[in-house]
Amino acid sequence: MVQKYYESDADPRTLEGKTIAVIGYGSQGRGQALNLRDSGCQVIIGLRPGGSWQKASEDGFEVYPVAEAVKRADIVQILLPDESQGSIYRTAIGPYLKEGACLMFSHGFNIHYGQIVPPPTVDVVMVAPKGPGHMVRRTYEEGKGVPALIAVHQDATGKARAIALAYAWGIGATRAVVLETTFAEETETDLFGEQAVLCGGVTSLIKAGFETLVDAGYAPEMAYLEVLHEMKLIVDLIYEGGFTKMRESISNTAQYGDLTRGPRVIGPEAYAAMQEILEEIQSGEFAREWMLENMVNRPVFTALTKADEEHLIEQVGREIRGFMPQFRK
Ligand code: NDP
Ligand code: MG
Ligand code: MG
Repeated sequence: MVQKYYESDADPRTLEGKTIAVIGYGSQGRGQALNLRDSGCQVIIGLRPGGSWQKASEDGFEVYPVAEAVKRADIVQILLPDESQGSIYRTAIGPYLKEGACLMFSHGFNIHYGQIVPPPTVDVVMVAPKGPGHMVRRTYEEGKGVPALIAVHQDATGKARAIALAYAWGIGATRAVVLETTFAEETETDLFGEQAVLCGGVTSLIKAGFETLVDAGYAPEMAYLEVLHEMKLIVDLIYEGGFTKMRESISNTAQYGDLTRGPRVIGPEAYAAMQEILEEIQSGEFAREWMLENMVNRPVFTALTKADEEHLIEQVGREIRGFMPQFRK
């Protein structure tokens, strides 16, 4: 079983006198920085001029250009977009790291696929909250926390794990649970999860169901409510109590259909596709494709995003949500 850590396993004194530079102030940067500050840590922000810089200043942080923030820091948490981390590291982070500093990530991509190769004189760790940045912040404010993964890639000072645990405490993660993993395991499972199940799997499943109903002549509004709107209600039950709780709540008819028809939708072909997708992740092929895509200004990313934005399910969805009070801001 994996190693688990809780509140009493972290020693907040590990962070005493240390300056933490959070590089990037987007989803994770903002959530983590605000929590750390409320936990009593000394936090500065590294950015380029722009929207995030302004936001961080408004939130009362000292903001510096990335290189300047790195020079001042004992712990450097890199919360930039994964696809930009390598080039920013080479120009503005690597050359300015203090000896014995701790370089930190919330996702293993750049270390695991060799986009960033830190010097042997620094600690390299991961503290990866298992939730989006606004949840990291909201649960902390409620006195709770989002679980996190920690991993140690390189332990130059002998304190790498202690620092990662203390940081996890600072963002509130030890209030939930912290699990130990490796950069390889976190990176590969994270990519697989988002591609095959959470994002890619779910959107493709919804689209296939929607198109099947609409092509058969059913009203797009009906199809939308059945295969997209209700998805959240079902997933909430699974989240709370697994398949068992969900099946207790649905009708017997729904349960029989679930048990006998589900495996026909996700059959041998889907298993084979998942295997292939996993192998592309493990071999680095996906990482190479994504880095090359970025080098040519993301033509595939842009075209496919646009095509989906124009899909009938998105048009119908905007219309239906417009009628439903719970979606009005
Ligand atoms: P966002 O895209 O939300 O934020 C990126 C930040 O980086 C922005 O503040 C942006 O500022 C800044 N930035 C971008 N380019 C530069 C640059 N050239 N120089 C300086 N600053 C720059 O990222 P996320 O928070 O989503 O992701 C950060 C990391 O956290 C990633 O490794 C991701 O995998 C990981 N992660 C994310 C989760 C999530 O829920 N989003 C969950 C768990 C991990 P600007 O306004 O100037 O563009
Ligand atoms: Mg991810
Ligand atoms: Mg129904």
